[in-house]
Order: sequence, then C-alpha cells, then structure tokens
Amino acid sequence: MNFFKCVSSLVFISGTMLFAADEPGTTSVAKWKDDKACAFILMFDDSLNSHVKNVLPELQKRGFTGSFYTTPGGSQYNSNRQSWETKIPEAGFELANHTFTHKGGTSKAEVVEEITSSNEVIHKNTPNLPWPRLVSFCKPGGLKKEKWPIAKDELNTLLEQNNLIIRPSFSGRGAQIAFKTGDQMLAHVDKAVNNGSMECIIFHGVGGEWISCPVNEFITLLDGLKERQDKVWVTQHMAAYKYATERDAASTKVVKNSSNQIALQLTSNVDPKLYDQSLTLKTAVPSTWKKGIVKQGDNVTEVDVQNGHVLYDALPGDEIITITMK
Ligand SMILES: [Zn+2]
Repeated sequence: MNFFKCVSSLVFISGTMLFAADEPGTTSVAKWKDDKACAFILMFDDSLNSHVKNVLPELQKRGFTGSFYTTPGGSQYNSNRQSWETKIPEAGFELANHTFTHKGGTSKAEVVEEITSSNEVIHKNTPNLPWPRLVSFCKPGGLKKEKWPIAKDELNTLLEQNNLIIRPSFSGRGAQIAFKTGDQMLAHVDKAVNNGSMECIIFHGVGGEWISCPVNEFITLLDGLKERQDKVWVTQHMAAYKYATERDAASTKVVKNSSNQIALQLTSNVDPKLYDQSLTLKTAVPSTWKKGIVKQGDNVTEVDVQNGHVLYDALPGDEIITITMK
C-alpha cells in the first residue's frame, strides 16, 4: 500500500483516535443474523393446551417465533389437533420432534417408531417447507431406562439418518426449574448477549398444566426480549443451528471491486439442501456511497450505508452477490 492510499484509508474520529477504514470489498459474516449479539430460542414441550391458549397470542402480538416440541400421539396434542396441524405451522412456528407419544417403548423397534412417526407427522403438517430438512429433537424426560432400550450410538445413527438435531439440554434452561421469575430468565438472555452465544429457555406449561410458568413472568420475559431486540435474535432452534454451522464453514471471495460495484461469492462447506439459512454479511463500500442495491438471484434489496458498510442477507452457494451504488 503506498503512502497516499494508506492516508486515504484512515478515518479521523473526535480528534483523538485514528483507525484504518476497511478497504472496499472487505466482507465478514456476522456472528448472528442482522449482526445481533446472540441467538435466543423459546422452546415449548409436550404440545400443551396452555401453549395454544396463552403462549401463541403473546408471541404473535410481539412478532416473536418459537420452537414447539410436539407429541402427536398424546392426548394434549389431540385436544388441539387443528392448531398443531394447520394454524401453528402456517403461522411459521417451528414444529420439533419430541417423539410420537412421549412414552418411549419396550423394544428398540418401538423407540425407532416413536421417533420416525413423529417426523412423518411434522413432514405432513408442513407441506410447504422443504423435505428432507433438519428437525430439532428432544428425547422425552422422565423415562425409565427400560422404556428407552436403544444404545447411544444406535440412537445417534438413527437421528442422523432422519436429519434430527439434538437441542441443548434441559439442565440450567428450564422455566420454573432453573428460573422462577421473568427477571431471572432475562438475566439468562443478558448472559447470552454478553457471551455472543445461542441460548434457550425450555417451557412446559405457561399459566396452567405442568411445571407451569405464571403468565405474568412469561410476559416479563417477552417484554424484556422486545426491549433487547436490537441485540437478540429471537428465533427457532434449526434457524440458529443452521446459521452457526454455515457461518463457521463460510468464506467469501470478492470477484469484482470497482468504484460503483462490488461482486462477491459466499461459500459454505455444508450440504446446501439441508443448510438453507441465509447469513448476514457486512461489506465495506467506497466512502462516496450512501445507499446500495444488493442482488443475489431474484432477491433484490436496498440497503443504507452505515459507518462505511452495508449489512445484508445472502445464501451460501454459486450465485454471485452484487452490491451496486445507488
Ligand atoms: Zn416432554
């Protein structure tokens, strides 16, 4: 870099500090979507009535999503069958595999059936989503050893064959067990913000049924999440899992870099059929730009330049991303 180019890439701030502005084209993958500090997932187990009655309206009111670990062969599911089969998936909530009846089985074949038939129901309930796709999985709690007669490596093979991903453990994450109040749950959120991690809280009943979290504490949590929305990506387990996996295997390569257009390729060393979550990229643009148009395939978005960068979503793959000055 010659002297003049070097000087031109320095930015002077408040009379005291100098730092080198990124060269146009310099691109990084944001740690989490929209450059938020952490990913946070609200998980709800056992397809309970109180989820349909108390949880869904409060999530929807705030534009939040959640992951629901359903048991389609259980009586709770059955009493709200229509909600679980149409309303909830159509509203975009995540259906996750908590086995078919939550009761385990007396043979390995029965355990396999518990897991695979739950997946079939999830597939049937989400006809508009791709299949096969990754599905979040949680083994039912409280099962006696004889009701889960499958060796760990056999279970892992079965999960892998069915694109099932084990969620984080209940320990330290259970509402009413690890956290009694909304403020305690929010402290768990703040820890995720500080650690830049993916975290979750696992609920059973909310305002009824078992291990029940009072509705007012749940609302304290949701309102606190809303206040932290610029830092917290409230999402679903598979979206966060895919994001982290793709991000950790991602690389970018600039293929064109002119004064009015930057073109680049985002690749990630994962199976694009299963890993279809868009990543958020941050690209430095020339200092003359105020806005940019980002295009990848049929997706076109207008973005503002902030602090010399544009922030946008893109899918890893062969399709070139272009950012054009507007
Ligand atoms: Zn359960």
